[in-house]
Amino acid sequence: MTAAPEIKGWCPGALRPMLSGDGWVVRVRPYGGRLKSAQADGLASLCAAHGNGLIDLSNRANIQLRGVREQTHGQLLEGLRALGLLDDAVELESRRNIVVQPFWQAGDDTALITDDLAMLLAQDGLPTLSGKFGYAVDAGPVPVLSSTPADIRLERNSTGNLIVVAEGSDMGKIVSRSQAAREMIALALWFAANNGTHTRMGTLIADGKALPEGFDTLRQKSMCRQAPGLNDAGALVALAFGQMTSVALSGLAKHGDLRMTPWRMVLIEGASRMPVIDGIITTPDDPLLRVVACTGAPGCAQSLGDTRMLARQLAPHIQAPFHISGCAKGCAHPRAAALTVTATADGYDIIRNGTAADIPDRKGLTPDTLTKAI
Ligand code: SF4
Repeated sequence: MTAAPEIKGWCPGALRPMLSGDGWVVRVRPYGGRLKSAQADGLASLCAAHGNGLIDLSNRANIQLRGVREQTHGQLLEGLRALGLLDDAVELESRRNIVVQPFWQAGDDTALITDDLAMLLAQDGLPTLSGKFGYAVDAGPVPVLSSTPADIRLERNSTGNLIVVAEGSDMGKIVSRSQAAREMIALALWFAANNGTHTRMGTLIADGKALPEGFDTLRQKSMCRQAPGLNDAGALVALAFGQMTSVALSGLAKHGDLRMTPWRMVLIEGASRMPVIDGIITTPDDPLLRVVACTGAPGCAQSLGDTRMLARQLAPHIQAPFHISGCAKGCAHPRAAALTVTATADGYDIIRNGTAADIPDRKGLTPDTLTKAI
C-alpha cells in the first residue's frame, strides 16, 4: 500500500531551511519581490557554491535554493546577509510573506503600500500566525494576482478605489492609500482574534465567519493570464517547472534588475528585447508552459517517480494544460485539473477532472504506455 504523503504545515525560509531529497531547501524572500542585478548575480554564485545549482521560483514569488549542504549553511547565510537578502529573525522572515504585483512603477500605490506593509510587519507585538499566512499587494487598475494564494489582499474595485479583501470573500473594504497597509494589519489582527482552529483566512470565511463592518464593496472580477513577452514594465520570461540553474539566473542578471512573479516567470525590468539564455522560455507557445510538474524524484524524498523528464516527454503530445505529480499530495497544483498524472508505487495513474489524490481513470501505467493512454 502507498504511504500517505507527509504534510509538513510550514514553509522553509533562509534561517529555517527544510530538508528535501536533494539536501536543504533554503527559501529567500526578496524585499518587494525584486532583486537588483548585483543581488541576482550574487545569489546565483551562492547557489553554485553552497547548493546543487538549481533554483526554484515558488507560486508566491519566493526563490528556493536547492541541495544546500548543512555544513555550509552558515556561510550561505553570511552571503545572503551581505547581499541584503536576510531577515534578522525567523519570525520576521516568516511574517514578511508578501506577493507584489510585478508590473508596479516607482512611486505608485503598489510600490508605496508594499513598503508600508513590510515596515509594519517588521514591528514587534504582532500575533504569531501560520507561516503560510500571507499578503498580496495588487493595486494596478485590474487585479492580476487573484489566483495567487493570499490571506489578505489589497486590490482595486471597478470604480478605481483601493480595497482590502479577506481571502474567500467577494467583498472588500475601501481604504485610502495612506491607511491601506494599516487596514491590512487590522484585518490580520481581526483574524488572530477570531480564527478559532483555523490557520488560514479562506477556511475561516468558508466556515461562515462574518467580516467586521466596512467590508461591503464588491471586488473586481479578473482572469488575467500572463505569457512570456515584452510589456510596459520590461521583458517577462518563463522557467520550465518554475526552475532555473544558477547559470541562467546569472545570465538574467546581466539584462537588468529582476522582479519575481508567482507565475513561474521573471520580469526583467525595463528590458526592450527578449534575452536568449539556455533554459529560459521566451515564447508563449512553448509546450512546457502547458505542464505543471512538482520536483518529483530524486529531489523530493516523498516522490514515487520521476515527474519532469516525463513532462518533457509528454508535453509535445498534449495540447491542453496538465499536471504531473510525484505523489498524491499534488503540491504543484493542489486543485483539480482536466488531466493529472500521479506517480504511485505501482506506476503512473491518470486522473481526469480531479486532483492528484482522486480516484484514477487508469492505473499502473509506464512512461511508454502513458503516451498512448493520454
Ligand atoms: S507532490 Fe511532488 S513535491 Fe509534493 S510531496 Fe509529492 S512528490 Fe514531493
